[in-house]
Amino acid sequence: MLADIKGLNEECGVFGIWGHPDAAQLTYYGLHSLQHRGQEGAGIVVTNGERLRTHKGSGLVNEVFGKGELENLIGHGAIGHVRYSTAGGNELANVQPLLFRSQTSSLALAHNGNLVNANALKHQLESQGSIFQTTSDTEVLAHLIKRSSYTTLKEKVQNALTMLKGAYAFLVMTEKEMMVALDPNGLRPLSLGILGDAYVVASETCAFDVVGATYVRDVQPGELLIINEDGLKVDSFSTSVQRSMCSMEYIYFSRPDSNIEGINVHAARKSLGKKMFEEAPVEADVVTGVPDSSISAAIGYAEASGIPYEIGLIKNRYVGRTFIQPSQELRELGVKMKLSPVRGIVEGKRVVMVDDSIVRGTTSRRIVKMLRAAGATEVHVRITAPPIAHPCYYGIDTSERAELIASKYSVEEIREIIGADSLSFISVEGLMEGIGRSNAEPNCGQCLACFTGRYPTEIYPDTVLPYEKELV
Ligand code: SF4
Repeated sequence: MLADIKGLNEECGVFGIWGHPDAAQLTYYGLHSLQHRGQEGAGIVVTNGERLRTHKGSGLVNEVFGKGELENLIGHGAIGHVRYSTAGGNELANVQPLLFRSQTSSLALAHNGNLVNANALKHQLESQGSIFQTTSDTEVLAHLIKRSSYTTLKEKVQNALTMLKGAYAFLVMTEKEMMVALDPNGLRPLSLGILGDAYVVASETCAFDVVGATYVRDVQPGELLIINEDGLKVDSFSTSVQRSMCSMEYIYFSRPDSNIEGINVHAARKSLGKKMFEEAPVEADVVTGVPDSSISAAIGYAEASGIPYEIGLIKNRYVGRTFIQPSQELRELGVKMKLSPVRGIVEGKRVVMVDDSIVRGTTSRRIVKMLRAAGATEVHVRITAPPIAHPCYYGIDTSERAELIASKYSVEEIREIIGADSLSFISVEGLMEGIGRSNAEPNCGQCLACFTGRYPTEIYPDTVLPYEKELV
């Protein structure tokens, strides 16, 4: 699936390391492997024990750190961030980590997720005299920490975290230590690893493989890890926890070589493909997946059905990220530039096209059209996510509800709109079984809110888009 033309984007990825002389360089490589989680900005803050130094900018990791900037980032601890901007806009000030300097100690913050009560907290803090430097929801945590009446930094951070609602994987760093916190619902993945004597944390385990770190465990909801010269201490800030891991991490966002709570993402997608076949078999000549994230599911569908898997669509990796599409014709051309059918494979064939989601429907329609133009006699679309009918408030840009095709149309109507011969979405039950997390009931253990509308946290009025106000 092609995120930038489909309208489904991850918000961020975080990476942190403590106790390594090449902390900034390793963070650079870690961020590189998390690049799929955000391409609009990147940054690193490093500490040498005395001072925090930073460099950040707009663009890809290798663009931001392309001119020797890492050479100035010397220290044994670092946190880094890649950003896709949904909350707060795309100005440089919002690129993370955010760094706040004060007389006593500085504070750097990197955040993956989205706070649902950020506006309410901002109003409250502004009425108490806080002045915000950014429009990012992340800055709220810095103000809450600074304003806390507790004595130690650990207590201040714990106290501040109890006031936040929503999705957050936070890395907090001062000159002397790094703290790692995950929201009580554990909506976003966050893992802990070791590299020699150093501790490493990352949004996805694929970053550990790149830097040579060994996975230790996933960070638990409500947990606060404190890492400093004394080593790692495990504490918490909430005992009222209920894991609600984002299902879309398995379906689409995470890299196939990452494991989320012990489940490999490629294996989960393959299993979703198998489930998809069980739920919606069809007679066809060839199975193909929309690259890259649907390839694993297409292989699963092919294996279960006995229909051969083929590469029927090719992704062009060298198309610029910011292709401007001012007209319908150019938008069509944009999709053609990004994705091409393999005529020799699909011509004269009945094709099963496996994709991971339908957001607005426009991309699916174009791909179906493309396959038919390349000679496919039938196109059967199989989607390994249930219909996305509700917006996400937890850091995934799933568009406004008004733009979500499944919020307005039935499956049969969507089939007609995208021009497929048949269309099936995986069921919520099939999704849960396919991923393989043990769920006693919906929303226990796994967030399904964009499919079911049942949100694992309270949704505050000010997180709701204007159009949504009467609907939630
Ligand atoms: S609402 Fe959907 S995209 Fe958002 S966290 Fe839940 S499962 Fe993930």
